[in-house]
Amino acid sequence: MSAVPSAAHRPAGPATPAAPKARAVELSGWGRYPRGECVFVEARGADDVLAAIAGNETLIARGNGRSYGDPALNSAGTLSLLKSNRFIDFDPASGMLTCEAGVLLEDVIDTFLPRGWFPPVTPGTKFVTIGGMIASNVHGKNHHLAGSFGDHVDRIDLALADGRIVRCSREENESLFAATCGGMGLTGVILRARFRLMPVETSFIRRETRRMRNLAAAMDAFEAARDWTYSVAWIDCQARGDALGRSLLFLGEHARAEELPAAQCLSPRALPRKHSRTVPVDVPGFVQNRWSIGAFNALYYRVARPGTDILDYDRFFYPLDGILEWRRLYGRAGLVQYQCVLPLAASRAGLTLLLKRIGDAGLGSFLGVLKLFGGQTSGLLSFPMEGYTLALDFPASAKTLALFPLLDAIVADHGGRLYLAKDAATSSAMMERFYPGLAQFRAVRERVDPAGKFVSRQSRRLGL
Ligand SMILES: Cc1cc2nc3c(=O)[nH]c(=O)nc-3n(C[C@H](O)[C@H](O)[C@H](O)COP(=O)(O)OP(=O)(O)OC[C@H]3O[C@@H](n4cnc5c(N)ncnc54)[C@H](O)[C@@H]3O)c2cc1C
Repeated sequence: MSAVPSAAHRPAGPATPAAPKARAVELSGWGRYPRGECVFVEARGADDVLAAIAGNETLIARGNGRSYGDPALNSAGTLSLLKSNRFIDFDPASGMLTCEAGVLLEDVIDTFLPRGWFPPVTPGTKFVTIGGMIASNVHGKNHHLAGSFGDHVDRIDLALADGRIVRCSREENESLFAATCGGMGLTGVILRARFRLMPVETSFIRRETRRMRNLAAAMDAFEAARDWTYSVAWIDCQARGDALGRSLLFLGEHARAEELPAAQCLSPRALPRKHSRTVPVDVPGFVQNRWSIGAFNALYYRVARPGTDILDYDRFFYPLDGILEWRRLYGRAGLVQYQCVLPLAASRAGLTLLLKRIGDAGLGSFLGVLKLFGGQTSGLLSFPMEGYTLALDFPASAKTLALFPLLDAIVADHGGRLYLAKDAATSSAMMERFYPGLAQFRAVRERVDPAGKFVSRQSRRLGL
């Protein structure tokens, strides 16, 4: 396959100047909290990346800005890889794809799903770059069987602080590979990666929806459904008492051709028509209060229809992508997501405490997601561990930010950790408790970047 630019979906971002290459731009993560002015540079390929590394005292790579907080922000130099977006090679015998780091997952799917290939792991949005997926070592609804994205990456070409380009994999520069998968851009700039796609018969998912009356029922159901490829629950975090943690559990399998209704049989791997809506303005903050959130959650729980259906991959994996700029529902102040994982044995007690604490604070979330992870995956700073992960969106407010340290303490006391791709507010002291691989990670960084060229607003806050 020749090197061709992927036809990228480029949501709102700074426009491209011909020259000069660097300019000041206000940037944020997906949550729009925090924001800050950054010297912004765009790279088209490896030469531009090397020039930016040489020409900036400090730098952080940026993909499509879908991490929520501040990991892709550095005021003195933020390097966008979105224009380094060429497919380089594809082997149809093995499904091995090589591409530049700025290729969007959406473009991988649009190009390869009609040929019978799908990403082995996908987050809940397709508007992420391959570089961003590796740097956060993202997980999907199949973590219990497939691990994280990094587990399917064969090798990475990484530009280091001293201007060298090194190849790292499980066989070559192994410790650098382990620090880069989940390393939040702090080991260098990922230029290219080779990873394996998985074969699928159709572009459809067979979904089973089940209503769970509380947290204990949901957890029992997750554990009984470990054979399903995909599992995820939407959790009503406003429910209290016996109904605490009531949820809708969604299970999924890639549909086989013979399972499709007649209408879809003619083109089983067709891409669904793209019909997205946009939230045109910021919704005022007062619209999200405990009553509106409570009403939404109760309605969502009641109207969902338990049973089995066949739906296209887009509606199963990326329901939020159908509403462009949905973050505007949280108003101009933005949103923060709290995503933690707790070890299996501590999950029931820890999740109950977290949900109670959130309820007591009078805070709620429109979107609460619960998933069961499999074992620890590769990557010194990787987030997953065997147990349950809970992700909740909150409006960015003083009340929310006052709650988070209390949640952090519960998570740390139960042996869990926070996901760096969602974090905007935790502390360096908590980071030491969350990530036992931190010392090893720092040792690799010290070796490849002794002067600390690669820094982000998050890495400074957390003392990484
Ligand atoms: C709606 C929504 C749903 C999501 N669901 C999930 C989910 O289910 N599972 C999950 O794991 N995550 C999920 N995420 C988080 C998202 O997958 C990660 O934050 C991902 O890293 C974003 O990719 P990006 O290209 O936008 O990277 P950015 O947000 O731009 O950057 C993220 C990090 O990657 C680094 N980085 C980016 N490109 C490079 C590069 N070329 N070289 C070195 N470092 C680089 C940056 O420095 C930064 O530290 C979700 C996010 C949203 C908005």
